[in-house]
Amino acid sequence: MRLSQESVCLSLLPAHRFTGLLCVLMYRGMMAEDPLCHPALDQTAGEEFLQEAFQIILEEAIRKGTDVTEKVCEWREPHDLQQILDLELRSSGAPQQTMLDHCRDIIRYSVKTCHPRFFNQLFSGLDPHALAGRMITETLNTSQYTYEIAPVFVLMEEVVLKKLRELIGWDSGDGIFCPGGSLSNIYAMNVARYQRFPDSKRTGIWALPRLAVFTSQESHYSVQKGAAFLGIGTDNIYLVSVDERGKMIPADLERQINKAKSEGACPFFVNATCGTTVLGAFDPLVDVADVCKRHGAWLHVDAAWGGSALLSRKHRHLLDGIERADSVAWNPHKMLMTGLQCSAFLLRDSSGLLQRCYCANATYLFQTDKFYDMAYDTGDKTVQCGRKVDCLKLWLMWKANGTEGLEKRVDRAFEFTRYLADAMKGREGFLLVTEPEFINLCFWFVPASLRGKQGCADYWERLGKVAPAIKERMMKKGSMMVGYQPLGSRVNFFRQVVTNPMVTKQDLDFFLDEIERLGKDL
Ligand SMILES: *Cc1c(COP(=O)(O)O)cnc(C)c1O
Repeated sequence: MRLSQESVCLSLLPAHRFTGLLCVLMYRGMMAEDPLCHPALDQTAGEEFLQEAFQIILEEAIRKGTDVTEKVCEWREPHDLQQILDLELRSSGAPQQTMLDHCRDIIRYSVKTCHPRFFNQLFSGLDPHALAGRMITETLNTSQYTYEIAPVFVLMEEVVLKKLRELIGWDSGDGIFCPGGSLSNIYAMNVARYQRFPDSKRTGIWALPRLAVFTSQESHYSVQKGAAFLGIGTDNIYLVSVDERGKMIPADLERQINKAKSEGACPFFVNATCGTTVLGAFDPLVDVADVCKRHGAWLHVDAAWGGSALLSRKHRHLLDGIERADSVAWNPHKMLMTGLQCSAFLLRDSSGLLQRCYCANATYLFQTDKFYDMAYDTGDKTVQCGRKVDCLKLWLMWKANGTEGLEKRVDRAFEFTRYLADAMKGREGFLLVTEPEFINLCFWFVPASLRGKQGCADYWERLGKVAPAIKERMMKKGSMMVGYQPLGSRVNFFRQVVTNPMVTKQDLDFFLDEIERLGKDL
């Protein structure tokens, strides 16, 4: 490049040799000084920084982050943390060493979700192959929309989605990876509306009857968000009752649908949950599917949490009937430890409904005169433009462990829940909210001061204050993390979830001991 510029320059020179030489030298000098003739990033310094940063990641986030002798979190009040981190962005840049110190501090004060004593969320743990996939994804930094820009990942996404569909029991269908289960649920609601009223894509909500959505009281709040977001309105959600284990009551679903009809609404969408977020309950899909069929409603199954049980031959019966769903949301980033985010939105339809529903046919991206088969440009199947590659981490992990390896992890999680539930029954002070159906173990810890006082008027009110108090102590100590919440008429209780294969019985015994230690004087 530079040479050819020089030769152009030389050819334009007058014949006089001296002038020519001078001109070349002057040109060289200009080149040396012209910053635009040099890269603006120092490649060597960049590589050195990355080497050291990777070392810090390996040591601080991966090794220490998964070491039981280290803390799960290093709690600081927001004001103190602001001071420690020096978050201010300034006009001049910071030296390399300072930047490495920042990396260390960022990791130090972040919660170690990979730690064997992190039980706070429905995701936890670290899978090395999935992590490698996440790093490759970040490094290659491409978008999933066309074959042109993501040939490997377009092919890979299709294979992974097909595999997930097979586990549901569909031999054909469609799907896409979405940024999270909430969006997968919202996509489902929109596709269902489009399928029922294809013109609404053009005419909007003005041309529609009042649409009604049905979901259980304990379903995920994204159904509310979706109804608000799509212009359906949260008033048009009919909440279906659940039994004492948190499962949708199909007879009440039918009652609610008839009620909606009698009020002049159009019941178009039923959301059933496989693995409710708090109790881990599975709605009875076969009966729910029968009701949907009778009323011509779209059946969406929110299996964001419980979908991974399909990998277990022993436990997949929990989702019996899922093959009758019109669409399914499934988050491998939760139980399977794929890493955030990895959420599949799957459809039974194979007529191109998803594409028709979302396509806008932008000609700058999805040119119709490409030199390859445009069926591989899947990016118009979503409301997104750029879309992150979410399939690689799951593919690498699945390839390395095999379906059987993933099944073992799922079975182990069930076994641990059983172990912990039995252990709690043998200890004074632990009271199960309900027998676990899945891997959510919900329980109250009753401190000695409250034991045997069930009859007291303020018993439940006082018990409701125990979990937040224990939580504060464990966070400040950094010994472990577990979530709590109230649910309906039940006061605050803990929800313990073990998905991390690094966890051992010793960690769970520690968990019980630690709850007792932290709560004994309350
Ligand atoms: C977690 C969860 C969601 C939401 O998934 P995100 O990826 O966090 O948006 C939806 N439904 C259920 C049942 C869930 O447990």
